[in-house]
Amino acid sequence: MGIPFLGEIEKLINEHGSSKILQERIALANDQYAALEKELSASKTREAQFETENLRLKLDNEQLKTQVRELHDQIHEINLLTVKYGVYWDKDGNVYCPKCKTPGLKVAWATYVRQQVHGLKCTCSDSPFILMENGEPIHAQEAMKLMAQQR
Ligand SMILES: [Zn+2]
Repeated sequence: MGIPFLGEIEKLINEHGSSKILQERIALANDQYAALEKELSASKTREAQFETENLRLKLDNEQLKTQVRELHDQIHEINLLTVKYGVYWDKDGNVYCPKCKTPGLKVAWATYVRQQVHGLKCTCSDSPFILMENGEPIHAQEAMKLMAQQR
């Protein structure tokens, strides 16, 4: 037992000291918690981004698969096309553009030398294509009729 009030002072110092250490520890723990919360939030954001990207990639993949199928079908059809009158024809007598090999050509008037003739117009070209037989133009309807009869 020393001087009574010294013990009180020591107790005060100890309490003060330990509460200061405690405060520092709490502050450190708070900082670590805040850092972890921030990391978790960033991680959740990244996860959401990955999910969105994954969904987008899945959709892209489906679209590409469809495109590949369509192109495959087109290539197959194009391989079966024959050339006649300067344009392409399939086995069913459908006509295809001589330039882009797509179907759906429209009959349109065209001028050959001084002669008006029914040609075929494709969206890929400004002027209609004139169908030719032995160096002479042939009306598109006539050529289509002849090709349909060949089947
Ligand atoms: Zn075309």
